[in-house]
Amino acid sequence: METKNWIDGSWSTPSNSQVEVYNPSDLNEKVGTVNQGTAEDVFQAERAAKAAQGEWARKTGVKRAEVLYSMASALEENLVELAELGSREMGKPIGEMKGEVTRGIHLLRYYAGEGVRSDGQLIPSSDVDVLQYSKKVPVGLIGLITPWNFPVAIPVWKLAPALICGNAVIWKPAENASLTATRMVELFEEAGLDKGVLNLVIGKGSVVGKAMLEEADLDGVSFTGSENTGLYVAETCAKRNIKFQTEMGGKNAAVIMKDANLDKTIPIVLSGAFKSAGQKCTATSRIIVESDIYDEVIERLQKGVKEITLSNALDADAYLGPVASKEQYDKVSSYIELARNEAKIIAEKEVSIDKDGYYISPIVITDAPSDHALVKEEIFGPVATVQKAKDFDEAIEMANDTIYGLSAAIFTENLANAHKFLDQTEAGMVRVNQETAGVEYQSPFGGMKQSSSHTREQGQAALEFYTHTKTCAIKFFG
Ligand code: NAD
Repeated sequence: METKNWIDGSWSTPSNSQVEVYNPSDLNEKVGTVNQGTAEDVFQAERAAKAAQGEWARKTGVKRAEVLYSMASALEENLVELAELGSREMGKPIGEMKGEVTRGIHLLRYYAGEGVRSDGQLIPSSDVDVLQYSKKVPVGLIGLITPWNFPVAIPVWKLAPALICGNAVIWKPAENASLTATRMVELFEEAGLDKGVLNLVIGKGSVVGKAMLEEADLDGVSFTGSENTGLYVAETCAKRNIKFQTEMGGKNAAVIMKDANLDKTIPIVLSGAFKSAGQKCTATSRIIVESDIYDEVIERLQKGVKEITLSNALDADAYLGPVASKEQYDKVSSYIELARNEAKIIAEKEVSIDKDGYYISPIVITDAPSDHALVKEEIFGPVATVQKAKDFDEAIEMANDTIYGLSAAIFTENLANAHKFLDQTEAGMVRVNQETAGVEYQSPFGGMKQSSSHTREQGQAALEFYTHTKTCAIKFFG
């Protein structure tokens, strides 16, 4: 398979440069070729989207909803094929990848429903014979810049609300999620989108992404990715006064209190840390344990890690597959090396797979000081640190001791502590007796502190970003 651009309702193959894609579960398998686009592709998409947006916005919500329902059906009919492609391209275990496509289907249907929901308020006027109300109008042309770790769900949770609100879109997916992106747009092609409403431009962040942010006449930008890129997105958009949202990294804590039900807690914590090889922005990367049960939790984590099987992401029951790329492999490996030299690895598994792939053992680390890079920096791999807290207050202090504020969880049977944790934790998504990862599609998603530009995605919250509010007033002379 090869990537293509979808601009103004036509496919084209950019010829700037090519990158071969190999399956991270089996590097002998070539999955396809990414054809990198140029700034000129972005400008062509910009012209097409500008021309198409007004007409799309003038359609009724019912008509736009029909298109979103068709997009959902297209994903549903091709769920397995798309999930397998995603697994081959970036190594996510197939079960999780199917779950991701299913989430995409739900998101499309959820936002299709917005086409027939009210989008304004009637506001009493202080004058007589005045009808005053607010209504939502599209922002205009939206640029979407997405990461590789959720190659289907994140693009859809941006695309679906953007489209139902009447915007046109230029989407630049991550370099190593571009095959999946191309296939998705191929599936959407039959859904009845007017030409130019959705444009896909494949390419490097430093070329295509940069041209979008610095030169294209965008009205809004929704970005998900790393903190460094996100800060550049924010700065560039702020300078140009473009509406923007950025969702970035996390260093998410799971706190285990002495009254937690450990039989239930440990598998959930392991799943939060190691599923998708820890490559979720909401993955558990710090485990904070109340001192009374510290030794028991360590033992249980060691046992749990022993039971994890590393496997090809396409194995039907794959739990932990490879990391996504050589870049990821090298980065995560360098943190593991740091842990070997400067802390203690208390649980890991030998990688015994006969395939050449980017496999990394699940790793649990203790004895890293609280200001150590292992505790402070987002590793984005199957690696978690464990820290000891003397009591609940210290556990909260430790959970909040990070520049990030994406998600956090507490495991406890104590209702008061659960509520205090929900109140006092500085994170956008806080959970009790649940993984740090896995917030539902109909709920707001986003972080505090350095994790976000402080808007929210998904649920009703997304509609705020993809619309402007207009206040309308009509005086009638009687
Ligand atoms: P990244 O920042 O490297 O890339 C994200 C996107 O930005 C890609 O499409 C990339 O091509 C583009 N990009 C890179 N440089 C650019 C530039 N100069 N101009 C414009 N665009 C540019 O991130 P990644 O490695 O793809 O994703 C992993 C990161 O994403 C992690 O930090 C993770 O925590 C974060 N993430 C956050 C969330 C969330 O909702 N908070 C969700 C998933 C991933």
